[in-house]
Amino acid sequence: MVTPNDGAAVTTTDKGISLVSEAVCEAVVGRPEAFTAVENVFAAMAKGDAYNFPVVREAIGHADALYGFKSGFDRAGMALGVKSGGYWPGNVDKNLTNHQSTVILFDPDTGKLRSLVGGNYLTAVRTAASSAVSIAHLARKDAKVLGMVGAGHQSTFQLRAAVEQRNFEKVVAWNPHPEYLPRLAELCEELGLPFEAVTREQLGAQADVIITITSAFEPLLMKDWIKPGTHIACMGTDTKGKQEVDPELLVAATVFTDEVAQSVSIGEAQHAIESGAIKAEDIIPVGAVINGTHPGRRSDEEITLFDGTGVGLQDLAVAQAAAVLAEEQGLANFISL
Ligand code: NAD
Repeated sequence: MVTPNDGAAVTTTDKGISLVSEAVCEAVVGRPEAFTAVENVFAAMAKGDAYNFPVVREAIGHADALYGFKSGFDRAGMALGVKSGGYWPGNVDKNLTNHQSTVILFDPDTGKLRSLVGGNYLTAVRTAASSAVSIAHLARKDAKVLGMVGAGHQSTFQLRAAVEQRNFEKVVAWNPHPEYLPRLAELCEELGLPFEAVTREQLGAQADVIITITSAFEPLLMKDWIKPGTHIACMGTDTKGKQEVDPELLVAATVFTDEVAQSVSIGEAQHAIESGAIKAEDIIPVGAVINGTHPGRRSDEEITLFDGTGVGLQDLAVAQAAAVLAEEQGLANFISL
């Protein structure tokens, strides 16, 4: 039974299972809330207080869909649950987002279902928060030019979150499909930032911070194009076989990640690991920098590279924030099973 929300302060035991729609997620979880949730969960992971369970991802043999779940437990944030969903390429013809997901949260004390939370908007905002956390902790303080490689659905979320981390004066961008670039140009106009579409070589020569957010399966940026002191957040590679940058760049850079196990298997580091160019021990969890157990960037000449693979705990962290805020603000609906 769905009960209308009367706006009173509630807990799940008061009112049952909370339902948090996509629209409510957008209303209650902005970039600051997502940043804090993701930064906290990366810190908890590095301390061993939060861990991801093995990921399941399968081609279901219907509608060309890839379906799976990402789950985990964050003891520090008391978030237990699963993000379930995947990729339906035909959705675009139905006016639906290709990526579809829902987060299911459970009460860690009892195992009872706690909340059902829309996962589509939250996936974009938590992925943007991930690269933003890396920029906040690893980019040079005087970074002025942001380089965007990629202009798809995630790219505007990435750009908005990134420009809040440093005093950027300009955005340069390149995309394999240049017809998507006006999306970023329009956003820069809205943000009052000069925008320039450039070649990949020009992007490397100008950018102090680079975000890659494409579906590429081959290197788009070569090591020799990247200038000393650059911070690169590689955000597109989240599956075996995908690749966005030259593996030599990972040799030249100090490599950070959300989770080492994913970085070496499905992240950008998979290729440099496979060839033996770098070792898993060379890769540093960004949570160690957040916790102060690793110094992070050591000089203005160092290239830092963040391999943002996307972990289930990020999804749980932002979904938990959405559920709590929606309940507090009287925006959740409730059901009982
Ligand atoms: P999208 O389909 O909206 O955009 C795809 C982008 O990749 C566009 O810039 C497009 O021009 C480019 N592209 C498409 N095919 C390409 C190819 N064969 N080679 C090079 N570039 C190509 O997708 P999106 O939602 O913006 O997601 C972008 C990428 O980010 C995807 O690979 C997605 O899986 C990944 N992603 C990662 C995380 C994470 O946590 N790391 C989270 C969400 C999405």
